[in-house]
Amino acid sequence: MEEQVANSDNFVKFIWQGICPPKVENFVWQLLKERVMVRQVIQRLYRSLVFNLECPLCNKEEESPSHLFLTCRWAWIIWSKCIGVWGVLSCSPKTIMEWAAGWTYLCPTPSSDRVWNMVFFVVVWMIWEFRNQKVFKEKEADLMLAVDTINFRIACWYKFHGFGSKELITSILLNMPGLCKEAKRRILSISEGLKFNVDGSSRGIQTQLGL
Ligand SMILES: [Zn+2]
Repeated sequence: MEEQVANSDNFVKFIWQGICPPKVENFVWQLLKERVMVRQVIQRLYRSLVFNLECPLCNKEEESPSHLFLTCRWAWIIWSKCIGVWGVLSCSPKTIMEWAAGWTYLCPTPSSDRVWNMVFFVVVWMIWEFRNQKVFKEKEADLMLAVDTINFRIACWYKFHGFGSKELITSILLNMPGLCKEAKRRILSISEGLKFNVDGSSRGIQTQLGL
C-alpha cells in the first residue's frame, strides 16, 4: 500500500524536483517506500537477526520509519522548530507518508513553494544524520545545532538554485535566534559559484558545514 502511494504521480513529482542533492532526493524516496534501514526495517528484512529495536533517540518506542522521522519526540521538536520559522503550526500525523502527502498544503505562501518543499528534504536528511551520530559516534543530540544546520543548508541549496525571493530566505535565516554570527556571515557571503556537494554532508560544526 505504502509502496503504491509512493509510486503515485504526486509523490514522484514531489520527490524528483531537482531541488536537493540527488542523494538526498533518493533517500527521501527510499524513506517513503519504507526502505530506509531503521531497526524495524532491518528486522523485517533479516528475520533471523535478533537485536534491540528501540529508537536510539528516545529509547522508548520501536524504531520504525515513521517513528524515527516524525513521531519521535526529538524528530517532532526539529519539525516544529523548522516549520515554526515559517509561522506554520501543525500536529503530528501518524505516518511520514501522511506528512509528506500534506506537506505542500502547509506551504505558507505560494511564492515560496520550492523553498518550502526543500525544507522537507533537508529536515529528513538532518534527522538521519542526527540519528547516525547517536548510533555510530555516541554523540548526544544538539537540537539547536541541528536546526541551525537545517536552515544553513536551506540557504546554501536555495542560493545554488536561485529559487523564489532571496530577501525572504535571507531574512528568515538572519532572524534565526540560534544562528551564530559566523554562520550568518557565511550565508551572506556565499558566492554564485558554489560547489554542490551531492552527499549533502556536514562536518558537524556550524561554521564548517558541507553544502
Ligand atoms: Zn524515538
